[in-house]
Amino acid sequence: MKNIAELLDGVRTLGIAGHIRPDGDSVGSCMGLYLYIRHWFPEIQADIYMESPKPVFGYLEHMDQVKTKAEGEKAYDLFITCDVSTKDRIAVAGRYFGAAKRTACIDHHVSNPGFADVNHILPEASSASEVLYGLLDPDKVDRGVATAIYTGIIHDTGVFQYSCTTPETMRIAGELMKTGFDFSRIVDESFFQKTYIQNQVMGRVLTESILLQDGRVIVGYLKKKDMDFYRVTGVDLDGIVSQLRLTAGVDVAIFLYELKTQVFKVSLRSNGNLNVNRVAVFFGGGGHTRAAGCEMAGSMYDVVNNLTAQIEKQQQEMEENE
Ligand code: AMP
Ligand code: MN
Ligand code: MN
Repeated sequence: MKNIAELLDGVRTLGIAGHIRPDGDSVGSCMGLYLYIRHWFPEIQADIYMESPKPVFGYLEHMDQVKTKAEGEKAYDLFITCDVSTKDRIAVAGRYFGAAKRTACIDHHVSNPGFADVNHILPEASSASEVLYGLLDPDKVDRGVATAIYTGIIHDTGVFQYSCTTPETMRIAGELMKTGFDFSRIVDESFFQKTYIQNQVMGRVLTESILLQDGRVIVGYLKKKDMDFYRVTGVDLDGIVSQLRLTAGVDVAIFLYELKTQVFKVSLRSNGNLNVNRVAVFFGGGGHTRAAGCEMAGSMYDVVNNLTAQIEKQQQEMEENE
């Protein structure tokens, strides 16, 4: 696929969705696509679905149009997912994806198996938002669309910090900036700013974090009862694993929090050659080589032991190949 217009030929009804517990890239890529289609393909009846996006994204145009529930049966002419790595991670509208006449996926996860009819997956791209930009007519990217795509890029690159940032990412960011949105405010308010409680929780996780393997692996965790105490949910914990990763000497950072009793959401980050996507895929998840995630059941100790066993296995393989 070269341009989104190819997909939209003859389409009258369209559904768009991102992944569960949406991050900035999921929100940014879905909104960028939605706003672009609203503007340039007004004849298409487009619906956008998201699992309750954080209020900090409220500066994006037409966020009020986002549907957080799927109601009734619908057979869209086309259903597009953005930033979704597997079919079972489609937020809210999974059943509409299944019922759609045609499906497409715009993504950058190396673990994506290509679950749609049309798959546009670029694992080298910083973000799904960057992949989306490549499918748009650059002259038609207005300020609203640019703001959404920029949001996605800064979130998945940690504001141009992670190794997934490329010269092309920077070029696109420069093009987007020309539309004149308030980029420093977006970076501050949607990425860096934390609520008082979010900071408290991060502090607590860092305080209680443990080092394993002579300091090469760091583990941070949060139990359900503590999440209830602080009244936080998964989206409030963004940024914690990135902070753990910044511990000097650490190769891999692991952060886990309890989704329900003895079921953990696991986030993995790598500082080097260790491929955390392989670890996540082994446990049924996925992601990218340096940032991946999965869900695991068992006691916290079992989960950590199982993860570190896979990490050690890979470390040994790497040492043998040296
Ligand atoms: P997270 O640790 O949740 O921030 O996720 C890091 C990266 O891995 C993101 O690009 C996610 O989309 C991806 N990811 C997280 N959990 C899963 C999962 N269970 N299956 C596939 N990809 C995942
Ligand atoms: Mn994402
Ligand atoms: Mn992404």
